[in-house]
Amino acid sequence: MTSPPELTVVIAAFNEEAALPLLHPRLRAVLDGLDLATCVLYVDDGSRDRTWDVLGELAASDPRVARLRLSRNFGKEAALTAGLDRVHAGAALILDADGQDPPELITEFVARWREGWDDVHGTRLERAGEGWFKRASAHAFYRVIGRLSRTPIPRDTGDFRLLSRRALDGLAQLHERQRFMKGLFAWVGYRQLSVPYHRAPRLAGRSQFGFWQLWNFALEGITGFSTVPLRVAMYLGLLTAMLAFAFGLFTIAKTLLWGDPVRGYPTLATLIVFLGGVQLIALGVIGEYLGRLYLEVKQRPLYLVDDWQPAAGASGDRT
Ligand code: UDP
Ligand code: MG
Repeated sequence: MTSPPELTVVIAAFNEEAALPLLHPRLRAVLDGLDLATCVLYVDDGSRDRTWDVLGELAASDPRVARLRLSRNFGKEAALTAGLDRVHAGAALILDADGQDPPELITEFVARWREGWDDVHGTRLERAGEGWFKRASAHAFYRVIGRLSRTPIPRDTGDFRLLSRRALDGLAQLHERQRFMKGLFAWVGYRQLSVPYHRAPRLAGRSQFGFWQLWNFALEGITGFSTVPLRVAMYLGLLTAMLAFAFGLFTIAKTLLWGDPVRGYPTLATLIVFLGGVQLIALGVIGEYLGRLYLEVKQRPLYLVDDWQPAAGASGDRT
Protein backbone atom coordinates (compact mmCIF):
# COMPACT_ATOMS: atom_id res chain seq x y z
CA MET A 1 0.00 0.00 0.00
CA THR A 2 2.02 2.96 -1.25
CA SER A 3 -0.83 5.23 -2.33
CA PRO A 4 -2.30 7.62 0.24
CA PRO A 5 -5.24 6.06 2.11
CA GLU A 6 -8.68 6.44 0.59
CA LEU A 7 -10.28 5.89 3.98
CA THR A 8 -8.80 6.66 7.41
CA VAL A 9 -10.45 5.34 10.54
CA VAL A 10 -9.94 7.85 13.37
CA ILE A 11 -10.23 6.49 16.90
CA ALA A 12 -9.86 8.61 20.05
CA ALA A 13 -8.73 6.52 23.00
CA PHE A 14 -8.44 7.54 26.63
CA ASN A 15 -7.40 4.76 29.01
CA GLU A 16 -8.55 2.02 26.66
CA GLU A 17 -5.74 -0.55 27.16
CA ALA A 18 -8.31 -3.30 27.77
CA ALA A 19 -10.67 -2.55 24.89
CA LEU A 20 -8.18 -1.84 22.07
CA PRO A 21 -6.78 -5.40 21.68
CA LEU A 22 -10.39 -6.62 21.42
CA LEU A 23 -11.48 -3.96 18.96
CA HIS A 24 -8.58 -3.91 16.53
CA PRO A 25 -8.87 -7.49 15.18
CA ARG A 26 -12.54 -6.88 14.43
CA LEU A 27 -11.71 -3.63 12.68
CA ARG A 28 -8.90 -5.27 10.78
CA ALA A 29 -11.17 -8.04 9.50
CA VAL A 30 -13.66 -5.46 8.24
CA LEU A 31 -11.00 -3.30 6.54
CA ASP A 32 -9.44 -6.37 4.88
CA GLY A 33 -12.81 -7.06 3.32
CA LEU A 34 -12.98 -3.60 1.73
CA ASP A 35 -11.45 -2.93 -1.61
CA LEU A 36 -9.84 0.35 -0.47
CA ALA A 37 -6.45 1.65 0.72
CA THR A 38 -7.14 2.14 4.44
CA CYS A 39 -5.33 3.52 7.45
CA VAL A 40 -6.27 3.42 11.15
CA LEU A 41 -5.29 6.49 13.12
CA TYR A 42 -5.41 6.08 16.88
CA VAL A 43 -5.28 9.23 18.99
CA ASP A 44 -4.09 8.61 22.52
CA ASP A 45 -5.77 11.40 24.44
CA GLY A 46 -3.21 11.59 27.25
CA SER A 47 -4.03 8.15 28.67
CA ARG A 48 -2.63 7.28 32.07
CA ASP A 49 -2.59 3.52 31.45
CA ARG A 50 -0.71 1.43 28.85
CA THR A 51 -2.80 2.61 25.89
CA TRP A 52 0.19 4.09 24.00
CA ASP A 53 2.23 0.86 24.33
CA VAL A 54 -0.76 -1.27 23.35
CA LEU A 55 -1.10 0.92 20.25
CA GLY A 56 2.61 0.37 19.56
CA GLU A 57 2.02 -3.38 19.62
CA LEU A 58 -0.91 -3.00 17.22
CA ALA A 59 1.23 -0.86 14.90
CA ALA A 60 3.99 -3.51 14.95
CA SER A 61 1.56 -6.19 13.79
CA ASP A 62 -0.46 -4.06 11.37
CA PRO A 63 1.31 -1.60 9.00
CA ARG A 64 -1.93 0.29 8.58
CA VAL A 65 -1.85 1.67 12.12
CA ALA A 66 -0.77 5.27 12.79
CA ARG A 67 -0.72 6.64 16.31
CA LEU A 68 -0.82 10.16 17.64
CA ARG A 69 -0.29 11.05 21.25
CA LEU A 70 -1.49 14.33 22.74
CA SER A 71 0.49 16.12 25.42
CA ARG A 72 -2.27 15.56 27.99
CA ASN A 73 -5.95 14.65 28.19
CA PHE A 74 -7.77 17.24 26.08
CA GLY A 75 -11.13 15.47 25.85
CA LYS A 76 -12.73 13.48 23.09
CA GLU A 77 -13.71 16.44 20.92
CA ALA A 78 -10.15 17.80 20.76
CA ALA A 79 -8.73 14.30 20.27
CA LEU A 80 -11.03 13.72 17.31
CA THR A 81 -10.08 17.10 15.86
CA ALA A 82 -6.40 16.18 16.23
CA GLY A 83 -7.05 12.93 14.36
CA LEU A 84 -9.13 14.51 11.61
CA ASP A 85 -6.49 17.23 11.13
CA ARG A 86 -4.09 14.47 10.06
CA VAL A 87 -6.37 13.05 7.41
CA HIS A 88 -4.93 14.89 4.42
CA ALA A 89 -6.33 12.63 1.72
CA GLY A 90 -9.47 10.58 1.26
CA ALA A 91 -12.42 10.17 3.58
CA ALA A 92 -12.45 9.61 7.35
CA LEU A 93 -14.50 7.39 9.60
CA ILE A 94 -14.85 8.08 13.32
CA LEU A 95 -15.17 5.14 15.69
CA ASP A 96 -15.21 4.79 19.50
CA ALA A 97 -12.35 2.78 20.98
CA ASP A 98 -14.61 0.86 23.36
CA GLY A 99 -16.45 -1.17 20.71
CA GLN A 100 -19.78 0.58 21.28
CA ASP A 101 -19.84 1.46 17.60
CA PRO A 102 -19.73 -1.88 15.75
CA PRO A 103 -16.87 -1.83 13.17
CA GLU A 104 -18.88 -4.34 11.12
CA LEU A 105 -21.14 -1.46 10.10
CA ILE A 106 -18.25 0.23 8.25
CA THR A 107 -18.94 -1.88 5.16
CA GLU A 108 -22.41 -0.38 4.92
CA PHE A 109 -21.16 3.15 5.59
CA VAL A 110 -18.62 2.75 2.79
CA ALA A 111 -21.32 1.48 0.41
CA ARG A 112 -23.47 4.56 1.17
CA TRP A 113 -20.47 6.88 0.79
CA ARG A 114 -19.81 5.36 -2.64
CA GLU A 115 -23.41 6.12 -3.53
CA GLY A 116 -22.51 9.77 -3.04
CA TRP A 117 -23.43 10.55 0.59
CA ASP A 118 -21.05 12.95 2.37
CA ASP A 119 -21.90 12.29 6.00
CA VAL A 120 -23.09 8.78 6.80
CA HIS A 121 -23.80 8.56 10.52
CA GLY A 122 -25.01 5.83 12.83
CA THR A 123 -28.20 6.58 14.75
CA ARG A 124 -28.76 4.52 17.87
CA LEU A 125 -31.89 2.41 17.99
CA GLU A 126 -31.44 1.77 21.69
CA ARG A 127 -28.80 2.27 24.31
CA ALA A 128 -27.80 -1.06 25.83
CA GLY A 129 -25.86 -0.85 29.07
CA GLU A 130 -26.89 2.72 29.84
CA GLY A 131 -29.03 3.67 32.82
CA TRP A 132 -32.49 5.24 32.61
CA PHE A 133 -31.08 8.58 33.71
CA LYS A 134 -28.59 8.86 30.85
CA ARG A 135 -31.28 7.80 28.41
CA ALA A 136 -33.83 10.29 29.75
CA SER A 137 -31.33 13.16 29.86
CA ALA A 138 -30.09 12.40 26.33
CA HIS A 139 -33.67 12.43 25.11
CA ALA A 140 -34.37 15.76 26.80
CA PHE A 141 -31.14 17.21 25.42
CA TYR A 142 -31.97 16.39 21.80
CA ARG A 143 -35.42 17.90 22.24
CA VAL A 144 -34.12 21.14 23.74
CA ILE A 145 -31.32 21.65 21.24
CA GLY A 146 -33.65 20.69 18.40
CA ARG A 147 -35.91 23.59 19.37
CA LEU A 148 -33.24 26.15 20.16
CA SER A 149 -30.73 25.67 17.37
CA ARG A 150 -31.17 26.65 13.75
CA THR A 151 -28.75 23.93 12.70
CA PRO A 152 -30.73 20.68 12.71
CA ILE A 153 -28.81 18.21 14.88
CA PRO A 154 -29.83 14.59 14.24
CA ARG A 155 -31.15 12.74 17.30
CA ASP A 156 -29.39 9.87 19.05
CA THR A 157 -26.43 10.32 16.76
CA GLY A 158 -22.92 10.38 18.14
CA ASP A 159 -19.58 10.80 16.46
CA PHE A 160 -19.78 7.41 14.69
CA ARG A 161 -19.78 8.52 11.04
CA LEU A 162 -18.05 8.52 7.70
CA LEU A 163 -17.14 11.93 6.26
CA SER A 164 -16.38 12.49 2.60
CA ARG A 165 -13.44 14.61 1.51
CA ARG A 166 -15.50 17.75 1.02
CA ALA A 167 -17.23 17.32 4.37
CA LEU A 168 -13.79 17.08 6.01
CA ASP A 169 -12.60 20.16 4.16
CA GLY A 170 -15.70 21.97 5.38
CA LEU A 171 -15.11 20.85 8.95
CA ALA A 172 -11.49 22.04 8.77
CA GLN A 173 -12.76 25.57 8.21
CA LEU A 174 -14.57 25.66 11.56
CA HIS A 175 -11.87 26.96 13.85
CA GLU A 176 -13.85 27.43 17.05
CA ARG A 177 -12.22 26.43 20.31
CA GLN A 178 -15.33 25.06 21.95
CA ARG A 179 -15.98 22.08 19.80
CA PHE A 180 -19.41 20.56 20.01
CA MET A 181 -18.70 18.01 17.28
CA LYS A 182 -22.26 16.82 16.66
CA GLY A 183 -23.22 20.41 15.96
CA LEU A 184 -20.19 21.06 13.76
CA PHE A 185 -20.89 17.97 11.65
CA ALA A 186 -24.49 19.09 11.22
CA TRP A 187 -23.44 22.63 10.36
CA VAL A 188 -21.27 21.40 7.49
CA GLY A 189 -24.34 20.01 5.75
CA TYR A 190 -24.00 18.39 2.29
CA ARG A 191 -25.71 15.04 1.80
CA GLN A 192 -26.31 13.47 5.21
CA LEU A 193 -27.67 10.00 5.82
CA SER A 194 -28.66 8.24 9.06
CA VAL A 195 -28.03 4.52 9.37
CA PRO A 196 -29.88 2.98 12.34
CA TYR A 197 -27.85 0.57 14.46
CA HIS A 198 -27.85 -1.19 17.80
CA ARG A 199 -25.34 0.39 20.13
CA ALA A 200 -23.44 -2.27 22.05
CA PRO A 201 -22.27 -2.04 25.65
CA ARG A 202 -18.56 -1.25 26.22
CA LEU A 203 -16.08 -4.09 25.56
CA ALA A 204 -14.10 -3.18 28.67
CA GLY A 205 -13.34 -0.31 31.02
CA ARG A 206 -15.83 2.35 32.01
CA SER A 207 -17.35 5.43 30.45
CA GLN A 208 -15.58 8.73 31.10
CA PHE A 209 -18.80 10.65 30.92
CA GLY A 210 -20.59 11.05 34.22
CA PHE A 211 -23.50 13.31 35.04
CA TRP A 212 -21.45 16.48 35.38
CA GLN A 213 -19.57 15.96 32.10
CA LEU A 214 -22.88 15.37 30.31
CA TRP A 215 -24.39 18.53 31.81
CA ASN A 216 -21.39 20.59 30.68
CA PHE A 217 -21.56 18.93 27.30
CA ALA A 218 -25.22 19.94 26.97
CA LEU A 219 -24.39 23.55 27.93
CA GLU A 220 -21.60 23.53 25.36
CA GLY A 221 -24.00 22.35 22.69
CA ILE A 222 -26.72 24.83 23.49
CA THR A 223 -24.54 27.91 23.91
CA GLY A 224 -22.40 26.96 20.92
CA PHE A 225 -25.33 26.60 18.56
CA SER A 226 -27.97 28.96 19.81
CA THR A 227 -28.33 32.47 21.18
CA VAL A 228 -31.95 31.85 22.17
CA PRO A 229 -31.11 31.82 25.92
CA LEU A 230 -29.87 35.41 25.61
CA ARG A 231 -33.17 36.38 24.06
CA VAL A 232 -35.12 34.46 26.70
CA ALA A 233 -33.29 36.49 29.36
CA MET A 234 -34.45 39.65 27.63
CA TYR A 235 -38.09 38.52 27.46
CA LEU A 236 -37.95 37.43 31.09
CA GLY A 237 -36.77 40.93 32.00
CA LEU A 238 -39.50 42.50 29.86
CA LEU A 239 -42.19 40.34 31.42
CA THR A 240 -41.01 41.13 34.94
CA ALA A 241 -40.91 44.85 34.17
CA MET A 242 -44.45 44.72 32.85
CA LEU A 243 -45.68 42.84 35.89
CA ALA A 244 -43.91 45.35 38.13
CA PHE A 245 -45.57 48.23 36.26
CA ALA A 246 -49.02 46.65 36.63
CA PHE A 247 -48.35 46.03 40.28
CA GLY A 248 -47.31 49.70 40.70
CA LEU A 249 -50.57 50.89 39.14
CA PHE A 250 -52.48 48.54 41.39
CA THR A 251 -50.71 49.88 44.49
CA ILE A 252 -51.40 53.50 43.53
CA ALA A 253 -55.07 52.76 42.89
CA LYS A 254 -55.32 50.88 46.16
CA THR A 255 -53.73 53.74 48.12
CA LEU A 256 -56.01 56.32 46.51
CA LEU A 257 -59.13 54.27 47.21
CA TRP A 258 -58.43 52.89 50.66
CA GLY A 259 -55.56 55.00 52.02
CA ASP A 260 -52.26 53.52 53.12
CA PRO A 261 -52.11 51.87 56.52
CA VAL A 262 -48.33 51.08 56.41
CA ARG A 263 -48.24 47.45 55.52
CA GLY A 264 -46.97 45.51 52.54
CA TYR A 265 -43.59 44.54 53.91
CA PRO A 266 -43.96 40.92 52.68
CA THR A 267 -44.84 42.14 49.20
CA LEU A 268 -41.77 44.35 49.17
CA ALA A 269 -39.45 41.62 50.35
CA THR A 270 -40.86 39.13 47.84
CA LEU A 271 -40.46 41.61 44.99
CA ILE A 272 -36.86 42.41 45.85
CA VAL A 273 -35.90 38.76 46.07
CA PHE A 274 -37.76 37.93 42.88
CA LEU A 275 -36.17 40.73 40.89
CA GLY A 276 -32.75 39.90 42.29
CA GLY A 277 -33.22 36.31 41.16
CA VAL A 278 -34.30 37.26 37.67
CA GLN A 279 -31.33 39.59 37.30
CA LEU A 280 -28.89 36.96 38.48
CA ILE A 281 -30.29 34.42 36.03
CA ALA A 282 -29.95 36.89 33.17
CA LEU A 283 -26.42 37.78 34.26
CA GLY A 284 -25.53 34.10 34.46
CA VAL A 285 -26.74 33.52 30.93
CA ILE A 286 -24.71 36.47 29.67
CA GLY A 287 -21.75 35.14 31.65
CA GLU A 288 -21.96 31.77 29.89
CA TYR A 289 -21.61 33.44 26.53
CA LEU A 290 -19.02 35.93 27.71
CA GLY A 291 -16.88 33.13 29.13
CA ARG A 292 -16.96 31.31 25.83
CA LEU A 293 -16.13 34.49 23.98
CA TYR A 294 -13.14 34.92 26.27
CA LEU A 295 -11.86 31.41 25.56
CA GLU A 296 -12.40 31.95 21.85
CA VAL A 297 -10.54 35.24 21.78
CA LYS A 298 -7.43 33.76 23.39
CA GLN A 299 -6.92 31.68 20.23
CA ARG A 300 -5.11 28.88 22.00
CA PRO A 301 -4.39 25.77 19.99
CA LEU A 302 -6.96 23.01 20.43
CA TYR A 303 -4.36 20.43 21.43
CA LEU A 304 -0.62 19.82 21.54
CA VAL A 305 1.05 16.77 20.06
CA ASP A 306 3.51 14.75 22.09
CA ASP A 307 4.36 12.01 19.61
CA TRP A 308 3.36 11.05 16.07
CA GLN A 309 4.05 7.67 14.51
CA PRO A 310 2.70 7.52 10.95
CA ALA A 311 1.49 4.24 9.53
CA ALA A 312 4.24 2.11 8.02
CA GLY A 313 1.90 1.31 5.15
CA ALA A 314 0.73 4.82 4.28
CA SER A 315 2.98 7.17 2.38
CA GLY A 316 3.61 10.88 1.97
CA ASP A 317 2.17 11.90 5.33
CA ARG A 318 4.96 12.79 7.71
CA THR A 319 3.73 16.08 9.10
N1 UDP B 1 -12.36 9.53 25.03
C1 UDP B 1 -11.27 10.36 24.74
N2 UDP B 1 -10.94 11.34 25.64
C2 UDP B 1 -11.64 11.56 26.79
C3 UDP B 1 -12.76 10.71 27.05
C4 UDP B 1 -13.10 9.72 26.15
O1 UDP B 1 -10.63 10.23 23.72
O2 UDP B 1 -11.26 12.45 27.55
C5 UDP B 1 -12.72 8.46 24.06
C6 UDP B 1 -12.88 7.09 24.68
O3 UDP B 1 -11.64 6.41 24.74
C7 UDP B 1 -13.84 6.42 23.72
C8 UDP B 1 -14.73 7.57 23.28
O4 UDP B 1 -13.99 8.76 23.55
O5 UDP B 1 -13.18 5.90 22.59
C9 UDP B 1 -16.06 7.56 23.98
O6 UDP B 1 -15.87 7.63 25.36
P1 UDP B 1 -16.82 6.90 26.40
O7 UDP B 1 -17.03 5.47 26.00
O8 UDP B 1 -16.25 7.16 27.74
O9 UDP B 1 -18.17 7.73 26.21
P2 UDP B 1 -19.67 7.17 26.04
O10 UDP B 1 -19.62 6.02 25.07
O11 UDP B 1 -20.09 6.77 27.39
O12 UDP B 1 -20.42 8.35 25.51
MG1 MG C 1 -18.44 4.45 25.10
